Amino acid sequence: RTGLNLTDVMLTYGDGDDQVSALDHVDLAVAPGELVAIVGPSGAGKSSLLAVAGGLTQPTSGAVVVDGTDLVGLSSRDLATFRREHVGFVFQSGNLVPALTALDQLRLVEKITGRRAATPPLELLRSVGMEQHAHRRPGRLSGGERQRVGIARALVASPSVLLVDEPTAALDRRRSHEIVEVLADQTHTFSVATVMVTHDHDVLEHCDRVLEMVDGQLRPL
Ligand code: ADP
Ligand code: ADP
Repeated sequence: RTGLNLTDVMLTYGDGDDQVSALDHVDLAVAPGELVAIVGPSGAGKSSLLAVAGGLTQPTSGAVVVDGTDLVGLSSRDLATFRREHVGFVFQSGNLVPALTALDQLRLVEKITGRRAATPPLELLRSVGMEQHAHRRPGRLSGGERQRVGIARALVASPSVLLVDEPTAALDRRRSHEIVEVLADQTHTFSVATVMVTHDHDVLEHCDRVLEMVDGQLRPL
């Protein structure tokens, strides 16, 4: 495992006078087992960074290497397969399937990938403190609990890279701390390279490194 490596990444939207550099000469290396937080104002390029790092958007130039594979130049079909097997995504509000129990959210990933999880789903739920609610649907879980299930689900495929977008946006202060602690634990336990975008300066203490994005450029905070 080599984690995530972005080298001199540029992402430009539009052309001529309307051109916007969403990512401007971005270099970022995240080691396996490292939790990196990215803060910065709205419009700075944080979502673009996650999209490029996860192979959802191809950069205009530069290299995006996940666990030794350069995503730049892969066909969209190969990218989709690569994402399923190597990249985990965690969203603001958990993004769970309403009709499925916590356990079935994780089993669905096994069905889609056609692979058994290296760590069984129930054990993953235990690792995020959700074993006792394994058979509840999202409607009967609190915001913090849904977020825990979302984290467990993102780990089913044993991803090399975990990309997390504003995981505490819907949570109060105490729950926010708990969720980022869970993220840090899972990052270290499963040796995944994790990038978390957040506005929540309160939770940065749980992260291994904090970077700031301004006008498409990344720098230490
Ligand atoms: P953040 O996540 O930090 O708010 P974004 O990555 O969403 O920032 O946006 C970075 C810049 O790229 C902004 O100027 C935004 O307006 C622009 N942008 C984002 N997506 C698109 C798009 N699909 N088309 C054109 N411009 C975009
Ligand atoms: P958390 O500490 O995870 O944010 P809360 O304090 O919001 O949880 O909720 C405490 C308990 O109440 C949890 O076990 C949760 O499952 C349950 N609970 C929360 N919201 C709901 C709901 N809308 N319906 C049923 N049970 C709920």
